[in-house]
Amino acid sequence: MKSKEIVILGSTGSIGTQTLEVVRSNEDMNVRAIAAGSNVDLLESQVREFNPEMVCVFDEEKALELKKRISNVKTEVVSGMEGLIECATLDSADIVVAAVVGMIGIRPVIEAIKAGKDIAFANKETLVTAGHIIMPMVKKYGVKMLPVDSEHAAIFQCLNGENSGEVDSLLLTASGGPFRGMTREQLEDIQVEDALKHPNWSMGRKITIDSSTMVNKGLEVIEAKWLFDVSFDQIKVIIQPQSVIHSMVQFKDGAVMAQLGTPDMKLPIQYALCYPERRYLEGERLDFCKLSDITFEKPDMETFKGLKLAYEAGREGGSMPTVLNAANEKAVALFLDRKIKYLQIADIIEECMMKHSIVDNPSLEEILEIEQRVYNYIDDRY
Ligand code: NDP
Ligand code: MG
Repeated sequence: MKSKEIVILGSTGSIGTQTLEVVRSNEDMNVRAIAAGSNVDLLESQVREFNPEMVCVFDEEKALELKKRISNVKTEVVSGMEGLIECATLDSADIVVAAVVGMIGIRPVIEAIKAGKDIAFANKETLVTAGHIIMPMVKKYGVKMLPVDSEHAAIFQCLNGENSGEVDSLLLTASGGPFRGMTREQLEDIQVEDALKHPNWSMGRKITIDSSTMVNKGLEVIEAKWLFDVSFDQIKVIIQPQSVIHSMVQFKDGAVMAQLGTPDMKLPIQYALCYPERRYLEGERLDFCKLSDITFEKPDMETFKGLKLAYEAGREGGSMPTVLNAANEKAVALFLDRKIKYLQIADIIEECMMKHSIVDNPSLEEILEIEQRVYNYIDDRY
């Protein structure tokens, strides 16, 4: 059997390190390149363990530091956007795990697709902002876009062998995050530490904050629209606090398919890397006799208005999802730096969306320019 030659963009992160765990337990998987922002300590140990051809450190100074540290190893060290793209398009690779955080992933993903690589896709901000550019390219270059985000991986599994024309709606489940059930008044004084405590999943800092504000679910609604080519009316969000059902698909005849499991990202990661094969995966199994409850609620889109704003941005289309995403990336960074209050995250997104005049079908350059403008606007004010 042919081995799997893998590139991991974002190898030091939550998805990246779990991907490496999957690689460790599959003998036919090789890591060809890894990339991260600046964490050279972890990159060094990953290089020594996995022996990739290439490693990219986005930060140039840190790249020089890594180069010195691993001068006794053959791995080539590259940096910056050019370096990310070199890793993403490496000749020897079959599949690129897109697991950087934020829309920094747009260009590497586009170049990987052009180079004919399949994509194991976690980096939702990239599809939210550039889905209209990326999905037609996936078709044109005949590559596979394999979702890693647990909800989308669930939907992808529910759609296996089905006719997409027979889908009625996608039922995207959400845990509701740590503040489910709270009022706006109660959210007024939320601190960084409170928002970083997710009830069911352990993830990177940005997505953990996004999960608490429900902006994550909003980004996932837009991600689902692009991955599965459905309208926004066909995507419904349902709160399922125990995170047992990872998402569902309702078909035209009323049948509902669901994918269930314990919350473990290694399942969607391994499934994407091995698709269409399903392999053994170590870990806890669902025990239905011990499972006391699976409950459902309607999302509260007034308190958690980030979700409502995402539906609006998605429906308005064009450059609006870029504004939503860029404003959120910046606002979350400011919140993590303790420069703004928790509820300001959604307020800032709303303000940026209100100020924006939509550009239809924005080009990559326009997307990146609008991103920068949104960053500058927020920097000037907060
Ligand atoms: P983390 O914050 O844990 O990791 C982010 C990764 O991106 C790190 O490797 C980081 O490197 C790297 N990175 C950041 N900036 C750059 C840059 N400029 N150039 C290159 N690499 C960079 O995030 P997660 O793993 O949690 O999330 C990654 C993506 O996957 C996000 O889009 C998220 O929404 C999505 N996702 C995550 C899930 C999860 O369970 N964690 C679930 C579903 C989706 P460094 O360490 O050096 O900063
Ligand atoms: Mg998800």
